[in-house]
Amino acid sequence: MNEQKMPNSVNPLLKFWGVMLALTLIFNLIVLPLISSSRVRETSYSFFLDSVEKGTVDMVQIEQNEINYIISQDGTTQVCKTGIIDDPTLVPTLREKDIPFGSVIPSEPNPIMSFLLSWITPIAMIGLMSYFLNRNFRKRIGNMPGMQFGSGKTGKQYVPDENSVKFSDVAGQEEAKESLMEVVDYLENPEKYTKVGAKCPKGVLLVGPPGTGKTLIAKAVAGEANVPFFSISGSEFVEMFVGRGAAKVRELFEQASKNAPCIVFIDEIDTIGKSRGSSFSSNDEREQTLNQLLTEMDGFGANKGVIILAATNRPEILDPALLRPGRFDRTVPLELPDLQGRIDILKVHAKNINISGDIDYNYLARATSGASGAQLANIINEGALRAVREGRDAVLQEDLEESIETVIAGQQKKNAIMSDEEKKIVAYHEIGHALVAALQSHSAPVEKITIVPRTSGALGYTMQVEEGDKYLVSKSEAIARLATIAGGRAAEEVVFNEITTGASNDIEKMTQLARSMVTKYGMSDEFGMMGLSQGGSRYLDGGEQMNCSQATAEKVDKEVRSIINAAQEKARQLLRDNMNSLHELSAFLMKEETITGKQFMEILNK
Ligand code: ADP
Ligand code: MG
Ligand code: ZN
Repeated sequence: MNEQKMPNSVNPLLKFWGVMLALTLIFNLIVLPLISSSRVRETSYSFFLDSVEKGTVDMVQIEQNEINYIISQDGTTQVCKTGIIDDPTLVPTLREKDIPFGSVIPSEPNPIMSFLLSWITPIAMIGLMSYFLNRNFRKRIGNMPGMQFGSGKTGKQYVPDENSVKFSDVAGQEEAKESLMEVVDYLENPEKYTKVGAKCPKGVLLVGPPGTGKTLIAKAVAGEANVPFFSISGSEFVEMFVGRGAAKVRELFEQASKNAPCIVFIDEIDTIGKSRGSSFSSNDEREQTLNQLLTEMDGFGANKGVIILAATNRPEILDPALLRPGRFDRTVPLELPDLQGRIDILKVHAKNINISGDIDYNYLARATSGASGAQLANIINEGALRAVREGRDAVLQEDLEESIETVIAGQQKKNAIMSDEEKKIVAYHEIGHALVAALQSHSAPVEKITIVPRTSGALGYTMQVEEGDKYLVSKSEAIARLATIAGGRAAEEVVFNEITTGASNDIEKMTQLARSMVTKYGMSDEFGMMGLSQGGSRYLDGGEQMNCSQATAEKVDKEVRSIINAAQEKARQLLRDNMNSLHELSAFLMKEETITGKQFMEILNK
């Protein structure tokens, strides 16, 4: 966080004038003499004699090793110098021409001018400069909200967002909508609630992974209730000046209560709502802002008609004070859409594009297990873009199928050339995964495998389609899953007796799953239901911390390794027992570059 304070205690104006004075001195003592010395013109001795002859020389000063003289020509005078020559006729000549000579000090051309030049001009310039600087500075600071000079308050004016979003634009998320319906109802008929003495929730916290429609549904609440929607992102409160964020919160609530009934939406509230005192570098600014938010939420009565919605994907780091009753007393979870949810979301977004023919939404939704609403919206858009590229004016099923691969696996690389040797390895690797999956009854069947390289860097791509959504994973399923992930590397081993870097992603996934089985799901014999890790985000990866002694952590590592080893051995064994199928399937994939689930099963069952 950049916390900037004003430069320390020495009066900045005093400092400024000090620097200016020093600059003036430097100018006069060093720069001016340099300039004026360059004004002395160096001439040849013969030029000097000619000038004396012509009578333009006014004075001559003979020094130890040079002669300075002043000539006046066309009304201007100039100081010149030349070297000494042993010339005994010089003095008589000067005498003859009646030119004064000797130790004459050539004076500056115009003493008043020179005084002006050396002292008044710089001071005037500096004065002018400082005046403008000052004015600009004031202007700039004056423009910064909260730093106004003089009278008049020009804090930010919050303008309600235009909203035309309705609940019908939010597909799926039925539980969330139901929960929020109450808020809408309250905003529409507050009397109904005040009559009974019921208080509407002041704050509703929307939590869920990115792209599940938190921002969208908040807008839809305002749209349904037809009230102003004040939206601000948590990061907008993070300000350079301490106390400014708090002032912003105050302004926001002041203006919102003037517009009541209305909705105030704070997006990404975790930026300011982080648990206080949990980090080493405490951030005064953020704490003040949070405190102000808490105060504001307490400040207005529940039935003032201002309802605060907030969204976050990291609810676990929020300050507990935010979540207590009277503040964000209701939490509405938004989850990744299930199969039906995905179908609905695809349909909602497909309404905005031109479609020709039948679209099999069920197939598309089954192929996008785990995709968020935002990704699904993106898939529809990519499909439309592809139709444009192909010069059509309507979107076909194949556009959408292709765009699933684009969005999920990165765009198909048109010109990437893979050597035959590489292609062979990739084919065996991918078939290895699929074959191990197919040979274990618990694994989901493979929908399609391609070995066309993608820009995302993945060389092969296995699309698995689950029959339905799974909420629980059994231990045997988890073990089967591990064997499937190990299948790629195992195929490389049993066929080529060599391993490649292609399995790095598999290794990551495998380790994560095996570790979770031990530390989180209680699936190891050694530890049983002992919880060994804590923390971590529910919706984002990472952030977990081991919650055990060093010695136990070592045992956990050992346990994880033995689970992984067992999975690898199982995969190898399954492949060794089915070498014929492995070779045949890989040959097919190498030739065709793509194999569908149906073709796969036909070859396998031959
Ligand atoms: P979040 O705030 O949860 O990260 P957004 O609300 O910004 O996600 O969603 C991004 C986009 O994804 C939305 O604008 C919308 O187009 C699409 N989207 C997400 N969830 C849904 C949904 N349930 N129904 C329809 N569109 C959705
Ligand atoms: Mg959002
Ligand atoms: Zn792999």
